[in-house]
Amino acid sequence: MPFNRNVYERAIYKEPAPIRDRENPFESMVKRFDVAAQILELDPGFYEYLTTPSRVHITAVPVIMDDGRIKVFEGIRVIHNEVLGPSKGGIRYAPDVTVDEVKALAAWMTWKCAVVGVPFGGGKGGVVCDPSKMSPGELERLTRRYTANLLDVFGPDRDIPAPDMNTNAQIMAWILDTYSMHVRRTENAVVTGKPIILGGSLGRREATGRGVMTVTLAALERLGLRPADCTVAVQGFGNVGSIAAQLLAEQGCKVVAVSDLSGGYYNENGLDINAMIEYASRNKGSLQGYPEAQPISNEELLTLEVDVLAPCAKEDQITRHNAPQVKAKIIVEGANGPTTPAADDILKENGCLVIPDILANAGGVTVSYFEWVQDRQGYFWTLDRVNRRLDRMMRAAFDNVYQAAEKYGVTLRIGAYVLAIDKVATALRLRGIYA
Ligand code: GLU
Repeated sequence: MPFNRNVYERAIYKEPAPIRDRENPFESMVKRFDVAAQILELDPGFYEYLTTPSRVHITAVPVIMDDGRIKVFEGIRVIHNEVLGPSKGGIRYAPDVTVDEVKALAAWMTWKCAVVGVPFGGGKGGVVCDPSKMSPGELERLTRRYTANLLDVFGPDRDIPAPDMNTNAQIMAWILDTYSMHVRRTENAVVTGKPIILGGSLGRREATGRGVMTVTLAALERLGLRPADCTVAVQGFGNVGSIAAQLLAEQGCKVVAVSDLSGGYYNENGLDINAMIEYASRNKGSLQGYPEAQPISNEELLTLEVDVLAPCAKEDQITRHNAPQVKAKIIVEGANGPTTPAADDILKENGCLVIPDILANAGGVTVSYFEWVQDRQGYFWTLDRVNRRLDRMMRAAFDNVYQAAEKYGVTLRIGAYVLAIDKVATALRLRGIYA
């Protein structure tokens, strides 16, 4: 094919990014950090250290597509901080993922690991691609080349990826295999969230949703509410939202609304979540056409009169525009960054208790830590042991955050940041700066 500049420009690096109304995610992180840093009277040098990602890798990922053409994708991996241990965090595949978003997500991983007390730093990765338009073969080649490009970054003692938006156990298996081929031995501790047979942990897939359920119950207890008297709306019906909805329903809550990309589904008598999971699994993962519910919009779901609202989809869903209409007593952030800083202030004013992402969705990385420990020991735990330990760690983290928030008279979000920053700063002080 003759060289054609237009084709070249369209093919290289980026799919056209859909326009979305959002704040700069890294700045959103820093806004919360600032409040916590003031409370802690953080030294300015520490401030700079902890708000600066330790490394940002951007790599061109060429892939031979099924039609024989070469397409070059942008691959990103950000290591935010390694003071508490090797960096840990997922990889997302999305057409609109940006370096700033990955920087924010990597920082959130640092704080998340510190909040629950797992010995990891924070990292995050992304590839700018639209996986819904790629074949399994193209996705495999993309994943393997991305991994090969980052061989010096990844490693069980260095940086350990995991699934995130649009990545799953199969993708982790390809990362494991590519890395293992290069180091000439099977190294299953290099990724978490992989298939059980390759050294994955029982309970990892459900862990984020389970953690959401555990902290929700802890919050209901604090507010003197019984699960059986509570209604719940869940935004997002992926790995986090569907499991959170299922487990909250098992605890007696009435889940009246859920949503996915196809829209919202409402039933005032409570939805049959197991039936919906079953329906979606037979319908390419989508709830499109689910009959036992009334269709509602995503915006309506967020402003429903419910006790608990669980945004489990993506960033910037509760903003200054819709926060005044949110009626939930508790928001539990299954997603990373679903609430903007401006919305935080409005929700606080309206007396809504927000369980922040760095606590609420930390169940995933907690069981990732268990998976890494099991891989390194070559000894695997029962599901019961995984769940008991997860519940214990999430409960303890919730109580610690709650106490920190009470102590400083701040929201749970700022309480969680204070706790996390204090831990990482203490470790940094002890380690010192290598000169
Ligand atoms: N991607 C998940 C998160 O945002 C899990 C990260 C991990 O297990 O390393 O927490």
